[in-house]
Amino acid sequence: MPPEGAVTRFAPSPTGPLHLGHAYAAFVAAERAGPQGRFLLRIEDIDRERCRESYVRAILDDLTWLGLEWHGPIWRQSDHLGSHRKALKKLAAQGLIYPCKCSRGDIRAALSAPQEGAPVIGPDGFVYPGACRGRSMLDAGSQDALRLDMRKALSRIGPLAFQENGPLHPDQHRLDPDWMIAHVGDVVLSRRDMGTSYHLSVVLDDAAQAITEVTRGVDLFDATMIHVLLQSLLELPPVTYWHHDLIRDEDGKRLAKRDDARALATLRADGATPSDIRLSLGLPSGA
Ligand code: GLU
Repeated sequence: MPPEGAVTRFAPSPTGPLHLGHAYAAFVAAERAGPQGRFLLRIEDIDRERCRESYVRAILDDLTWLGLEWHGPIWRQSDHLGSHRKALKKLAAQGLIYPCKCSRGDIRAALSAPQEGAPVIGPDGFVYPGACRGRSMLDAGSQDALRLDMRKALSRIGPLAFQENGPLHPDQHRLDPDWMIAHVGDVVLSRRDMGTSYHLSVVLDDAAQAITEVTRGVDLFDATMIHVLLQSLLELPPVTYWHHDLIRDEDGKRLAKRDDARALATLRADGATPSDIRLSLGLPSGA
């Protein structure tokens, strides 16, 4: 059973139409809140290049059509960039972030040097080889990204763990610092085009919305480790997690926003009902 009075959220990025995978994620979040808790809606619209208002409207339409009701006003992530910047300053004051000039091409080139060994792919792509580590924030230029110095950050805090309540790996999960350094590395906390990042904004908004359980696809399991670390560095309350399986197509490929054939709006236009959607996701029809 969900924890009494859990506060959960569905947090789509309006960069494309919702598909069956999103419907599943939204149903799981609503279900975990249950009748005692609160199910909130957050629009994660910090990527101004990729987000569109038309997708925000489509998300609201789809959720309403599915019969999902969220509690209270919709949280717009882009309205809270001021608090995200403040948190970055706090990390900078602790000496935990540094400015990075490297382009993707620079990173690829550095990783192809023979002494580097096989590049490791982390939650955000290649683990950063560290060319800019040690640069001072005093030298930060407006075109720089800001990265977390993972080794330093981990050395500042004690052992970390999070409670996973989901069906796939229910357990208390410990963060292994060596694994974090090798497999996650110095992640970007402020992208040059955004002034923040998914990782930073998501933990700050989860705390600001007083979320108690984060439900999300298991593809974000490694990203969750970054979030647990950031919660600790920023002294935010811990949350429990519920990672769920991904909805896949017949070939086992996970659905993506570009798979328009699985878009909820397309299925609806083709005559599917909300009950059909629930049944196709393996959920009780709700009828
Ligand atoms: N906004 C993210 C997405 O649409 C998910 C947020 C999260 O669960 O952390 O993939």
